[in-house]
Amino acid sequence: MQRLQAFKYELMPTGEQQRDMRRFAGACRFVFNRALALQKANHEAGGKFIGYVAMAKQLTTWRHSAATVWLKDAPVHPLQQALKDLEKAYKNFFAKRADFPRFKRKGQSGNFRYPDPKQIKFDQANGRIFLPKLGWLRYRHSREAPGELRNVTVSLSCGKWFVSIQTRREVEPTIPQGGAVGIDLGIARFATLSDGTFYAPLNSLKRYETALRKAQRAMSRKTKFSNNWKMAKARIQRIHARIGNARRDYLHKASTTISQNHAIVYIEDLQVRNMSKSAAGSTDAPGRNVRAKSHLNKAILDQGWFEFRRQLDYKLSWNGGHLIAVSPRYTSRTCPECGYVSADNRRTQARFACVECGYENNADLVGAINVLRAGLARLACGETSPDVGVSAQEPTEATIQLSV
Ligand SMILES: [Zn+2]
Repeated sequence: MQRLQAFKYELMPTGEQQRDMRRFAGACRFVFNRALALQKANHEAGGKFIGYVAMAKQLTTWRHSAATVWLKDAPVHPLQQALKDLEKAYKNFFAKRADFPRFKRKGQSGNFRYPDPKQIKFDQANGRIFLPKLGWLRYRHSREAPGELRNVTVSLSCGKWFVSIQTRREVEPTIPQGGAVGIDLGIARFATLSDGTFYAPLNSLKRYETALRKAQRAMSRKTKFSNNWKMAKARIQRIHARIGNARRDYLHKASTTISQNHAIVYIEDLQVRNMSKSAAGSTDAPGRNVRAKSHLNKAILDQGWFEFRRQLDYKLSWNGGHLIAVSPRYTSRTCPECGYVSADNRRTQARFACVECGYENNADLVGAINVLRAGLARLACGETSPDVGVSAQEPTEATIQLSV
């Protein structure tokens, strides 16, 4: 069984390499934006979608035209990858998996990808990596990256440069441990398993919210683009980074434990993206309960459900298990004891109380039990090929694990 895995390390570039990396990231952003603008103009003129091959020809023209000849200083493969990223963004949009691609803004982050392993030398013994037009770069060798190198992504985050190395290797197929379990994802509890175990809410944003608000207020008082303003802005970015790290850490721990102890995990097939869509509504149909909903949206995003599902998906498949999405219909209203379905069974958010037989339990646990039952029933109906939860992602992406 083949496993694709990404290993992320912090780079220790020289001043010149930092300047070059900024320029390369800028060139990739420029190419992405220019291609997007061209794609839009072409569409407005009634033209058909411009595919990657035709767009790559455009790139060659840009690299040779006098106005943008500086594009030649950047390595060509990462520029082409920027076009591939745009094409993928369009595909995700066409498949209703994502919003319409947006122009990339110049900011604190940026990245570019080297797709050709033949042009890269990865010297783990000496903690260095050779990349086209950058030369040898030193990095913090925090762990060994096993397998054959596939591609390399360089990224900037909060003033630090990172390199993410994707490798491919053959691993022994494993026999999954444990049985089937249902999961209910919620606000009061991050995840509740049908066996009764549960994970406390993540609330990583909440914990940092006060610090973030204070930092944002401080920045608003500074003169824009002054040194003090820049420092305040950097502080906000550091808090955001800490929030992200805390969330990642939590999700990885939870998804690892669950995937190691279960062969099949059933999960509600909620469209997380739809649920967290703007609650404000359109001008034609202004949203109801805007305040309450946007609070819920924030909580959903905070919980990182989508990322959790993605991690469960690839970790289970690494362990030989499966993640299976089941329809969430009636999972919160059905009595697991007598099967009576009614909204009245769920008078409060937290408690389930059957009006027919009197069965009572935690509402999230009841949800998890019903998800498991619905999953098992589906399997019994002969739908043996499990469709994996986050199948919207392409397989390579679903199997990438980032480990710093
Ligand atoms: Zn009942």
